[in-house]
Amino acid sequence: MANKDFYTVLGVSRDADADTIKKAYRKLAMEYHPDKNPGDKSAEERFKEIAEAYAVLSDPQKRRQYDQFGSEGMRGGGGFDPRGFSDPFDIFREVFGGGFGDIFGMGGGGRRQTVQRGTDLQVRLKLDLEEIGRGASKKLKIKKLVRCEKCSGSGAKSGTSRTTCPQCQGRGEVAYRQGFFSISRTCGRCFGEGQVIEHPCSACDGEGRVRGETTLDVEIPAGVAEGQYLTIRGAGNIGLRGGPNGDVLVIIEEKPHPHFQRHGNDLLFDLTISFPQLALGDEVEVPTLGGKARITIAPGTQSGKILRMRGKGIPNLNGGGAGDQLIRITAFTPTRLSSAEKDLLKKLAEFESIYPEQTDKGLSEKMREAKR
Ligand SMILES: [Zn+2]
Ligand SMILES: [Zn+2]
Repeated sequence: MANKDFYTVLGVSRDADADTIKKAYRKLAMEYHPDKNPGDKSAEERFKEIAEAYAVLSDPQKRRQYDQFGSEGMRGGGGFDPRGFSDPFDIFREVFGGGFGDIFGMGGGGRRQTVQRGTDLQVRLKLDLEEIGRGASKKLKIKKLVRCEKCSGSGAKSGTSRTTCPQCQGRGEVAYRQGFFSISRTCGRCFGEGQVIEHPCSACDGEGRVRGETTLDVEIPAGVAEGQYLTIRGAGNIGLRGGPNGDVLVIIEEKPHPHFQRHGNDLLFDLTISFPQLALGDEVEVPTLGGKARITIAPGTQSGKILRMRGKGIPNLNGGGAGDQLIRITAFTPTRLSSAEKDLLKKLAEFESIYPEQTDKGLSEKMREAKR
């Protein structure tokens, strides 16, 4: 090949202009591209030869030098070696993809290594309101794909290694022509990795990863809510053949609480007390997330009134205070009364002051109220 005449290689005359040289290269490069001639070594050699010839003849300065000294002269004393000067695929890309910038999705460096990141894992974590209220430390056991120790994640049987993909010569993608455009797609042989495994590791079938289990320590901040999630970077499945790990998403689920209903960061607690307590006032014990607390019922408190215990709700996730605990008061109506108790209530019923003032609210207003 060293002695081949570049003009002959491209099939052009010695006085061919730049356009003719380019056209000749395009035609031949398409014809001998390894993707069109899979497994054909001579086509590949020819493809490289064509690229080499074009690299020299398309550059006015190199062409002058070549015309003067020939390829041997260039190598000996001319100071540059056209061989290895440019990757034949770079030249191909430059000519066919020229003007379309990064249509090939490759940098000038040539070889593209596609690294596949492992997938993310989702883990559901059930928390009760107490845990949400103060924050929680949890250990989560998760099943995930971990590095195969037998092949150290390479996917190749021990004593062997991955080899350059013969289909794409390690580029990870192949270019083909469609109309005026040269389009590249991921290599179907190596799936874009540029390398193939001739002898896969038996433990992982060449994936470089196996099923495993791990325990994660997770710190849940106070104030999280149902459906929110924490991302633990790099704790997910490992990528194919040593690719980086995905993440673990810890999705918060809130367990229903026997006493409290959560509304944002406020907690609603229903307190049912007797009519005398409402009428005369009292001090009553109520549960809170932080333990029992006492609240004062003022004399004359109406059933349905909501009392507010400031700051006794869920802490704000982003810091700065907390919601409130709301106490919704309901009057208890006794159902099992002795005759003595009935007599007392009958006596009480004789007093006008125990009856509500009659209002002239319309029915629709009452229904609106009822819906509140
Ligand atoms: Zn393995
Ligand atoms: Zn390939």
